[in-house]
Amino acid sequence: MTNIVNLFASPESANADSPKADRTGEVFLVGAGPGDPELITVKAMRLLQEADAVVYDRLANPVLLDYARKHCDLIYVGKKKDHHSLPQDQICALLAALAGCGKKVVRLKGGDPFIFGRGGEEVEHLTEQGIRCTIVPGITAAIGCAATTQIPLTHRDHTHAVTFITGHRQHGKMYINWDLALQKDTTVVFYMGLSNLKEITSELIARGCPVDKPFAVVAQGTAETQQVLVGTVSDIADKLARHPLPSPALLMMGDVINANGYAQHLADLTSAARPVSSEMLEVI
Ligand code: SAH
Repeated sequence: MTNIVNLFASPESANADSPKADRTGEVFLVGAGPGDPELITVKAMRLLQEADAVVYDRLANPVLLDYARKHCDLIYVGKKKDHHSLPQDQICALLAALAGCGKKVVRLKGGDPFIFGRGGEEVEHLTEQGIRCTIVPGITAAIGCAATTQIPLTHRDHTHAVTFITGHRQHGKMYINWDLALQKDTTVVFYMGLSNLKEITSELIARGCPVDKPFAVVAQGTAETQQVLVGTVSDIADKLARHPLPSPALLMMGDVINANGYAQHLADLTSAARPVSSEMLEVI
């Protein structure tokens, strides 16, 4: 499906007949939204349909690429199993090179480009190179998962603030601001924390989090394959061990998880659909 990229080919969008044609390309950092492809914005969809090149990530739903024009270059720069992703500086250089030869480039990212999406680094690089860059926001995973699980991120009776935190490791170390994660009356959403769930929840409890604080894991949120686990900060890691969930997944913590019972209903469906006993896991 991916076209071979010829950086020196004339982009279809340039008007070659006009001597005054503006040959400087531009880059649009476009949020694709989470798993459900219908959650992309109208503006993002229009840009996809007009693009000369689409540079896309693993988290952007590939169905969206079907909307690109026939001769659009489709360039994958995400991580594949057993393959390294293109390093960030090379992605930036690729975007600059494509725009530099007059192409209208859509950099398609899962969710929103500015929420843990390294969009900031790409804008910086392109601006330094004098390349025009426009940001088109997308629905970030937390907002998408909140909608499909009916976990209201804010609620007058339960929570007055929302915190998005990255739960991943850099150079083997977690950089979580625990004081922020333990604020009262706050909903906390951890991105990229699935593989560190046990460590995150143990640390929260050690630092004084009430052991019955509601906790949820939402995997492949908003997609047809969405799965949900609900528990507390003290038992969610064991539940995940019994019912391993695929990535991408979000961790959500806060009293809002039990606000209306729908998340628990989804969790019951998830558990019923894939019962995995600890004995089976040991065999696996
Ligand atoms: N820019 C993206 C986030 C990129 S970081 C956004 O705004 O959503 C990648 C992390 O996002 C994943 O590790 C996971 O924690 C979360 N994520 C992305 N898509 C998700 C989905 N459909 N369901 C659950 N979590 C998701």
